[in-house]
Amino acid sequence: MKGTTRLRQTINSIYRWAQKNSLWVIHYNSGGCNGCDIEILDLLTPRYDVERLGILAEGSPRHADVLLCTGPVTRQSKEGLWQIYSQMPSPKWVVAVGSCSITGGVFQGSPTVLGGIDKVVPVDLYVPGCAARPEAIIAAFVQLRERIAHGK
Ligand code: SF4
Repeated sequence: MKGTTRLRQTINSIYRWAQKNSLWVIHYNSGGCNGCDIEILDLLTPRYDVERLGILAEGSPRHADVLLCTGPVTRQSKEGLWQIYSQMPSPKWVVAVGSCSITGGVFQGSPTVLGGIDKVVPVDLYVPGCAARPEAIIAAFVQLRERIAHGK
């Protein structure tokens, strides 16, 4: 019995190690100005070399672990955002990048804007800023890796 428990713990720790070192991301703009998208593109260039942390851009939600979302959620983008999220396999995480994705930002009050993306999908990490800096996004990933490593 003790041996089985230890084996399970070992498998779980290998699983978590693999998971934290292999976070494939999909990026979606639900209605922002593209400022945060440019920062995300910058993040994915060799300058920041986020592949060393296992972060890789992925085009299909079915292969992605993390949804990086920019911009406020609008009436038009609501369905698309939910579709992408629901097609991602579990476990999955959502990172709201930039003030607009957190609260609606400068677009608050518009009749077509519903607010932050947590109106539609559950958000795990918030990266403030207008635009959010690549360093702040990397800090969010470091936090996410810590959470995964500790099984949270
Ligand atoms: S937070 Fe600023 S830069 Fe990012 S989408 Fe909103 S207005 Fe644009």
